[in-house]
Amino acid sequence: MLNLLFPKICNGCSEVLQSSENVLCTHCRHELPLARHHLTGNEQMKQVFYGRIPIENATALLYFQKKGSVQRLLHNLKYRGQKQIGAFLGSWLGAELAEIPEYRDIGMVIPVPLHRRKQKLRGYNQVSDFGREIAKSLNAEYRADILLKTSRTRSQVFQKRSKRFKSEKLFNVTNPEPLQQKHILLVDDIVTTGATLENCATELLANSNVRLSVATMAMA
Ligand SMILES: [Zn+2]
Repeated sequence: MLNLLFPKICNGCSEVLQSSENVLCTHCRHELPLARHHLTGNEQMKQVFYGRIPIENATALLYFQKKGSVQRLLHNLKYRGQKQIGAFLGSWLGAELAEIPEYRDIGMVIPVPLHRRKQKLRGYNQVSDFGREIAKSLNAEYRADILLKTSRTRSQVFQKRSKRFKSEKLFNVTNPEPLQQKHILLVDDIVTTGATLENCATELLANSNVRLSVATMAMA
């Protein structure tokens, strides 16, 4: 009865889901633009970070396309309270990574953090359940309390000849001790320029003796 009054809707096409379906209808699931660099050996995702930060492995599950089903998925996850999408993508990717030798020694999964105020406003970090499910699959620790977002503001720096925005340090490692000697998987929802992940990775690498890999729900 509850299901008739509040039918579950596909997060890709808004059709009513069958009882056997979860998050996406079968059609949308089959139509998803898959990236899965961990299976294909494609280094496209890793290349985003070449010359910027040392990365062991990098992968995305899906390709982001404007107006496509992945955009709707991420939008519903982030802005429409559809938290189950994060767990859905995390358990999917986690199960696959657990079969790949390069990811098996990951000891800790860390999400790209939201600023405390932003997280309070949204009610959750959209990457949390994604990261938790991956950690579960890899028998790794999930830690959201080590890397924190410190600032939302950007300071305007006026220079003599050019006016430009220079960003402050945006992330901070509160406690580097648990990181030591670990292979860490940094997770986020989407990679576009890689700047956010680069900032996070820089902080983690500066504070500890770690190896880093990256996994995201999607790549733009
Ligand atoms: Zn659908």
